[in-house]
Amino acid sequence: MSKGTINVSVENIFPLIKKFLYSDHEIFLRELISNATDATLKLKHLANIGEAKVEYGDPMIEVKVDKDKKKLHIIDQGIGMTAEEVEKYINEIAFSGAEEFLEKYKDNNGDNAGIIGHFGLGFYSAFMVADKVEILTKSYKDAPAAHWSCDGSPNYTLKESKKKKDRGTEIILHIADDSTEFLEEARIRELLTKYNKFMPIPIKFGTKTETLPKPENAKEEDPAPTQEVDNIINNPDPAWTKQPSDLEDKDYSSFYRELYPMQFEEPLFNIHLNVDYPFNLTGILYFPKMTTDLNMQKDKIQLYQNQVFVTDNVEGIVPEFLTMLRGVIDSPDIPLNVSRSYLQADGAVKKISSYITRKVADKLKSLFKENREDFEGKWNDIKIVIEYGMLTEDKFFDKAQDFALYPTVDDNYFTFEELSEKIKDNQTDKDDKLVILYASNKEEQHSYIESAKEKGYEVLLLDSPIVSHLLQKLESKKEKISFVRVDSDHIDKLIRKEEDTISKLSEEETETLKTFLTEVIPSEKFTVQLEAMDSQASPFIITEPEFMRRMKEMQQTGGGGMFGMGGLPEMYNLVVNTNHELVGQILNTKTRKKKERLVNQALDLARLSKNLLKGEELTTFIKRSYDMIK
Ligand code: ADP
Ligand code: MG
Repeated sequence: MSKGTINVSVENIFPLIKKFLYSDHEIFLRELISNATDATLKLKHLANIGEAKVEYGDPMIEVKVDKDKKKLHIIDQGIGMTAEEVEKYINEIAFSGAEEFLEKYKDNNGDNAGIIGHFGLGFYSAFMVADKVEILTKSYKDAPAAHWSCDGSPNYTLKESKKKKDRGTEIILHIADDSTEFLEEARIRELLTKYNKFMPIPIKFGTKTETLPKPENAKEEDPAPTQEVDNIINNPDPAWTKQPSDLEDKDYSSFYRELYPMQFEEPLFNIHLNVDYPFNLTGILYFPKMTTDLNMQKDKIQLYQNQVFVTDNVEGIVPEFLTMLRGVIDSPDIPLNVSRSYLQADGAVKKISSYITRKVADKLKSLFKENREDFEGKWNDIKIVIEYGMLTEDKFFDKAQDFALYPTVDDNYFTFEELSEKIKDNQTDKDDKLVILYASNKEEQHSYIESAKEKGYEVLLLDSPIVSHLLQKLESKKEKISFVRVDSDHIDKLIRKEEDTISKLSEEETETLKTFLTEVIPSEKFTVQLEAMDSQASPFIITEPEFMRRMKEMQQTGGGGMFGMGGLPEMYNLVVNTNHELVGQILNTKTRKKKERLVNQALDLARLSKNLLKGEELTTFIKRSYDMIK
């Protein structure tokens, strides 16, 4: 037996480990199981290359709770360690890793739990929950088993062990009084499912009862036979580690269910990521049905490193617009021992992020090409991701030209190119600009949509919350186009063409009318605008200038803060069609009272068709209408 003192330059490292990692004690189990997995995989490798003359067999890792003795055991059948190796890997190397880690981070109170394993603090994280740790280990080499024991002070003992007969390592944690939660079976099961659900070596935690098929000659009332079997908590071969060619649709959807057991809706489609140069990355991303609430969707992608769960915060690794997706990413190449802001500047991570973006774009393109009808059917459920991506990632914007769709109010779906081709004859204005009309709500803008359709114009239905931002971007990226909402001007001015309709009113009459209208109509609400239009067009129309409305919307959904926090006022124009019969009638009505009544009635009708008449004003309108017809 030998005794020794771990070479300490950081005083009392164990209390420090405990204190520093306070928020995330639970990761000790992940670290110990990772070590057990590494040891097993190393043995597999050595056996494969003939270096270790052992039967590899079907090794597993076992986790056992001994609540009475307050102990937790993690047992593997891996390469094990000789006494010299314990000396070297546990007392020297692992410890100096722990020391280095603390040196570097002891003044930093941030959440650095994800970095522990990557500093070689893995093994020593056991001291976050245990006040004594033992290692019983027997190497695959012909050497006696070793027994290491350390009680949390820098002193340890290392002696030969007669007890340990089988190859492999057993770690015994004497759980500290303030960590007894880790003696609860339910708590351990929870941790195993969180961190080790997809680790590559089977992990046993207790046993379970399995029902066997009844033998042929069994009687009806005989109970089915049962047997006790190992309870394996992980799936060592998760779908993302396989080749896409070996997987069918049903494998992808059952893996989705494995990832999200509480999720009942099927994903719309998946993207299998698989690259090994210039970095290593595998994974499967799923497009779920999207809601328009952008924040609700986040933090569903899980990040793994060699099948060990690391985090479900993939910010910085996956471009923001794709954090709305679900699934798994596994990469040993993502540096986890750095802060998030550093991560975003890291070259490898940038490449990973742009690879993912490109893969997603390619997949969308092929889905669109292979089955357009199906893609159109899914458009409303995925558009928020695509539109958000177009807005925030220029590369994605370019690629999306192939599959981004622009649906019309009549449910026709066009790509931008198809749309331009279709409308270029009828919707090019006198300055040679292509004017694309859209509505944001079919019900509320019904009358405006109808008058545009009467002119043979196509009207898109664009109703995402970020639409004004996206249009702004489209207008800046594409030449000579502008988007105009159907209610932003009267129909003859939405698309300005050469011809001007001649007014039926003389200049003098127009002047009189204008004066009268500005007296009656509240100027703080409406700007009156007289226009000579088609006599069939409505007499009064309320419009909301595109620019102001868009700025207001952009301000509400973030960005475009050029008008400060005050919020922009509502700005409406009242367009009066001087060629309409009713307008002539107003002009020719003798008594002022009657005239006012006509104007108010027409104004209210215009407000009604823009959904602006509410409350008291609506009541007044209804009363006035009854008076007029009785
Ligand atoms: P890391 O895993 O990053 O190397 P750890 O502190 O987790 O750092 O472990 C230190 C070293 O101790 C390992 O590299 C390995 O050599 C040895 N070790 C730890 N656990 C085991 C085990 N279960 N079987 C064999 N060797 C182990
Ligand atoms: Mg480790």
